[in-house]
Amino acid sequence: MPRSFGEVSPHVRAVMQSNSSRSSGPELVVRQALWRAGFRGYRKNVRSLPGKPDIVFSRVKLCVFVHGCFWHSCPHCRRGKQVAKNRGYWIAKLQANVDRDARQRAQLEAMGFTVRVLWECEVSAGLAFFLEETQNIFANVRARSGPAAHERAG
Ligand SMILES: [Zn+2]
Repeated sequence: MPRSFGEVSPHVRAVMQSNSSRSSGPELVVRQALWRAGFRGYRKNVRSLPGKPDIVFSRVKLCVFVHGCFWHSCPHCRRGKQVAKNRGYWIAKLQANVDRDARQRAQLEAMGFTVRVLWECEVSAGLAFFLEETQNIFANVRARSGPAAHERAG
């Protein structure tokens, strides 16, 4: 067991550093924005659901994925189309990611979830639109099911 990052190869060091925190930057930004906007009670990295969604609001059945533009082939920006070296390898690999995302999304929707994919580039551009959407989802569920018990109590 190496005593410090200085004793391992740059590759191993990169892996160790990426494992040391489970939340990537954009995911953290989204969670903080939700928290600040008053959305609480979500679960993170839910392993029991297809695709292990980054954020899940069980009560309103909303799954949010925060996708890296390169790895998930973002349709909105250049990073999603950036494959320079080893074209064949990358195209196959990235296509497999896209196929898996689509399959997992279909599974979640079949289970009754609303699935929202937030791209890294959308996150950088600002989350006001996403927060408004989330607000609407909560409002719709509330309208359909009537006031929840804890909301009636007060
Ligand atoms: Zn993008």
